Amino acid sequence: MVDFTLTEEQQSMREMAHEFAEKEIRPVAWDYDRDGTWPQEIIDKAWELGLMNGHLLTEYGGPGLGHLDGALVEEELSWGCSGIATTLTCNGLACAPIELGGSDRIKKDYLGRLSEAPLLASFCLTEPDAGSDVSGMKTTAVRKGDKWVINGSKCFITNGEYANWYTVYAKTDKGAGHRGISCFIVPRDAGVLVDKHEDKMGQRASNTATITFPEVEVPLDHLIGEENHGFKLAMMTFDVTRPGVAAMATGVARAALEFAVQYSKERVQFGVPIAMHQAIQFMIADMATKVYLARLATWNSASLLDQGRRNTLESSHAKRYAGDIAMEVTTDAVQVFGGYGFIKEYKVEKLMRDAKILQLYEGTAQIQRLVIARETLLPRPAQQPATTKA
Ligand SMILES: Cc1cc2nc3c(=O)[nH]c(=O)nc-3n(C[C@H](O)[C@H](O)[C@H](O)COP(=O)(O)OP(=O)(O)OC[C@H]3O[C@@H](n4cnc5c(N)ncnc54)[C@H](O)[C@@H]3O)c2cc1C
Repeated sequence: MVDFTLTEEQQSMREMAHEFAEKEIRPVAWDYDRDGTWPQEIIDKAWELGLMNGHLLTEYGGPGLGHLDGALVEEELSWGCSGIATTLTCNGLACAPIELGGSDRIKKDYLGRLSEAPLLASFCLTEPDAGSDVSGMKTTAVRKGDKWVINGSKCFITNGEYANWYTVYAKTDKGAGHRGISCFIVPRDAGVLVDKHEDKMGQRASNTATITFPEVEVPLDHLIGEENHGFKLAMMTFDVTRPGVAAMATGVARAALEFAVQYSKERVQFGVPIAMHQAIQFMIADMATKVYLARLATWNSASLLDQGRRNTLESSHAKRYAGDIAMEVTTDAVQVFGGYGFIKEYKVEKLMRDAKILQLYEGTAQIQRLVIARETLLPRPAQQPATTKA
């Protein structure tokens, strides 16, 4: 049976996240966007309320929420501001490889830290010459005695300047392409350097930095999963995290739709509110359908994970569709506002800038289509073991 009726717990969690977005995020979101302000106060409050790290299992101090629960929270936070939501939810991306492949000791130490204090962690895959094609990465990890020595640089790392620890992908077999990549956990105090703070088009309250690992040493047990299996771990991670990005995109699109609906009822042209013009009504109708379908695809992809089922295809459908419609809906919202939509004083131009990244990070819109094409042309059995939390 297909049933997306939310439980009472899910409804109250969603309401709490919405209230937080309305009272704590929205009032500062446009100022933080203008100034690129780091939202430390919001991080502290969200952590206190349990709106961060919902994915952490109870044995590591977390609430052990499901993936659908997480998607509900992410849509609301992103409705408030997707830049701040990216900051608040990035721990999920950094933790997923550890949850999938880390030892109990590593989980207790590094995941446990996040439940004890409002700390952040970063996921370090991308490099200047290795974006969509991660097999081109140049960062290396070499075993020397009882240590791994990691050497290289990662770019566009969310929360990179503020992270307490990093999930880092590095080549352990240089000649083996994506089959020569391994995953490591690196504490910041191992000697990690922050090189560059990016000035961005949108999501300006999120932090994006270049992070360098100059001959950084970590103990042997900081290898996550098996040696040379890091690429698989990264792909399994994205199955888990893409529903969250899709939820964020749904939140941005919903915010834009709501602003457009309100404005279309207030703005009078040719003697009537512009909402009376059928061209505007049809635009609003299309925006509403897109938000509705993005949420359905998101919830479906998250629910499959909660059922312990493989969701590679569905998470790419959700991420691709929600990311694309967030761009379309925010662009249409600017259109509904007319010339005012182009002016910074009005709220929708920020949403249009914020939406763009949702078609880029955690696999671009083109890479999602590659995954969808592969899964459609060469389908795998739907009931394979889950790629969810270990
Ligand atoms: C704000 C921000 C935050 C980010 N956060 C993180 C993070 O926390 N951790 C992290 O590791 N990375 C992060 N990234 C990196 C992000 O995931 C990459 O930017 C993204 O994967 C694309 O890589 P690229 O920028 O090198 O683009 P490229 O891979 O160079 O792609 C350029 C264009 O070519 C297209 N393209 C590439 N290959 C193909 C193909 N085979 N078929 C069709 N089209 C193709 C792409 O879709 C894109 O349109 C972040 C990026 C940004 C901007």
